[in-house]
Amino acid sequence: MDFSFTPQQERLREEIRAFLEKEVKEDSKVDFLYDRPYSPATWEFLGKLGEKGWLCPTWPGEWGGIGASALDNYVIQEEIAYAFAPAPFAVIGAMVVGPTLLAYGNEAQKNKYLPLIARGKVEFSMGYTEPQSGSDLASLSLRAEDKGDYYLLNGQKMFSTKADFAQYGWIAVRTDTTNPKKHKGISLLILDLKNTPGLTIRPIYNMSGYHSTEVFYDDVRIPKENLVGDLNQGFYIIGAALLFERAVTIRGFHKPLELLVDYVKNTRRRGRPLSEDPLIRRKLAELEMRFAVTGVIARRLCWMQQNKMFALNETAIAKLLSTELVYDLANAGLQIMGPYGELQSDSKYAALQGCFAHMYQESPHYKIAGGTSEIQRQIIATRGLGLPRG
Ligand SMILES: Cc1cc2nc3c(=O)[nH]c(=O)nc-3n(C[C@H](O)[C@H](O)[C@H](O)COP(=O)(O)OP(=O)(O)OC[C@H]3O[C@@H](n4cnc5c(N)ncnc54)[C@H](O)[C@@H]3O)c2cc1C
Repeated sequence: MDFSFTPQQERLREEIRAFLEKEVKEDSKVDFLYDRPYSPATWEFLGKLGEKGWLCPTWPGEWGGIGASALDNYVIQEEIAYAFAPAPFAVIGAMVVGPTLLAYGNEAQKNKYLPLIARGKVEFSMGYTEPQSGSDLASLSLRAEDKGDYYLLNGQKMFSTKADFAQYGWIAVRTDTTNPKKHKGISLLILDLKNTPGLTIRPIYNMSGYHSTEVFYDDVRIPKENLVGDLNQGFYIIGAALLFERAVTIRGFHKPLELLVDYVKNTRRRGRPLSEDPLIRRKLAELEMRFAVTGVIARRLCWMQQNKMFALNETAIAKLLSTELVYDLANAGLQIMGPYGELQSDSKYAALQGCFAHMYQESPHYKIAGGTSEIQRQIIATRGLGLPRG
């Protein structure tokens, strides 16, 4: 099996590196890492990616892509993430909503939203989770009553990240309360977050300073033309959308590992270079090995996507491996750097500008958002190994 990239892909890599060298601004890096509302620099950068067709590269030219293969896209995503630039894989419109609309949206929806997404003009917020429904999404209860030419929504969503600044919502609602098979009563709607009365959006902060939102819906009207796919089929469409959300590239997180390795090479403790400590060497080698394995799995996933293969099990494996790797990397960094690693970036004593302190606080949520690690293990047990549902 040949794991190398083609000469064209290497040329693409060089091209995007040159672009990133010129276009990535310091303030958009910080802004994006901390997942605050996108700054003007971030919007500008996303717009420039869009002009190149690199925000949604796999889409056909008519919708703003360049018809790239999944592996070309992987190269692009890797380089953007490695530059700590605003990465398309964290842009919900480009990563989740657009690809799902390409598959399930009607022509009017594609015409309206795809060009805006591909040019980096808009962002979406995903509203699946509710106070009583997360992993068990089929139990969601935000009601959407049929009122003729619109749906009337009442209820609450939880952890609707970016709802405070995104232009649109992508929300799962209950449209049938009578079907005993709960997953068959769910539909997917697009919501205009900026021009819809009845919404209350409040930020909720986690320990890293990252914020999501809770959204209250009081007699909110959504036109019926905003229904995505068929009525009561939303659960299946969300299933497809989650596969887009869980696809990964890991190279962006290899950079902190490289910084940690440099730190170890250049730091002495109790008169001895850290690089000679066998425990530290073993820990770093273990992490490097896991990066290599996760990279191969992620590339195999691209190949499966390219060949239109159903990859539920492989996507779960990739999501699990990558998110747990980042979490373990953050832990290892703090162990190796000791108290200097825990200091925040504004301290002159902070090791590696507080990068690991931040990652340590932020990385637990990677294992939760988009489906928890336990749920990924359930998928692997049932879909991968054929075990009965627990
Ligand atoms: C930072 C952050 C951002 C998020 N952004 C969004 C967003 O933009 N949009 C959105 O809709 N949601 C978002 N979420 C919500 C996220 O998808 C849910 O938190 C997640 O799916 C878990 O749901 P829950 O919180 O209800 O926990 P629960 O489902 O109640 O789970 C609680 C615990 O029980 C475990 N568990 C549950 N069921 C099982 C099972 N069958 N087998 C084994 N263990 C199980 C879980 O793994 C978890 O450890 C975000 C979450 C975070 C932390």
